[in-house]
Amino acid sequence: MHQHWTCGAFSNLDDPVLQVADVRFRWPGRTSFSLSVPKFEVQKAESVLLLGESGSGKSTLLSLICGTVIPDNGVVRVAGTDLAALPGGQRDRFRAEQIGVIFQQFNLLPFGTVQDNILLPLRFARARQQRAGEPKRAAMELCAALGLPKDLIHAKANTLSVGQQQRVAVARAMIGQPPLIVADEPTSALDADSQAAFLDLLFQQSAAHHASLLMVSHDPRLADRFDRVVHLADIAQIDRVA
Ligand code: ADP
Ligand code: MG
Repeated sequence: MHQHWTCGAFSNLDDPVLQVADVRFRWPGRTSFSLSVPKFEVQKAESVLLLGESGSGKSTLLSLICGTVIPDNGVVRVAGTDLAALPGGQRDRFRAEQIGVIFQQFNLLPFGTVQDNILLPLRFARARQQRAGEPKRAAMELCAALGLPKDLIHAKANTLSVGQQQRVAVARAMIGQPPLIVADEPTSALDADSQAAFLDLLFQQSAAHHASLLMVSHDPRLADRFDRVVHLADIAQIDRVA
């Protein structure tokens, strides 16, 4: 029996992990851009590549999905929960529980160790922490699975190579098995070989935990590897004033 920790609500196992419905959004104070998404869903264990040109609103949509911004209209449900219905603090915790995020520049804490960075999302997410078991051991195991040398666990993030940083970013997103992994153009700074290696790690780790993967990119060459490719322009109405 799977019961989600939040609000005592049950969510059906067959429900999509992500549901976006009738969403409209405009950045406060900005009239030159607006995004509407009538319907977009990601199923459990599905991998989806979301393509769109620069400035089309991909990162904005990810912010809506992560609940860092709230739509002016419509609803975003993650694991069955309406993010806007949660008060701010609970929303932050819910995000930490349910979503593993990989940012474009990886956003590691530069002076934190590899271990600090990997354990960071567990700090506000008790259920995720429990799923991780013994957190420090879980971090070690992820490092091993991702080919990070053991002795790097106490190295400061700012001493790592880009390839090592990307592995830490994957480990941080994966620890404690969040059901949804969201990645915002994580390969854009990498050469073709490192891109392929990065995607290998990402797919291998998400498959191991039946996590859903939503990756955003402007690069259609990545398409082959995903279950489904979605063009933002096909699911959204984007109004842009130059
Ligand atoms: P993409 O990720 O596809 O390049 P973005 O979602 O970053 O596109 O940007 C879409 C539009 O939203 C752009 O006009 C951008 O300037 C604007 N935008 C993005 N983030 C913010 C923000 N935090 N505040 C105000 N406007 C923003
Ligand atoms: Mg972006």
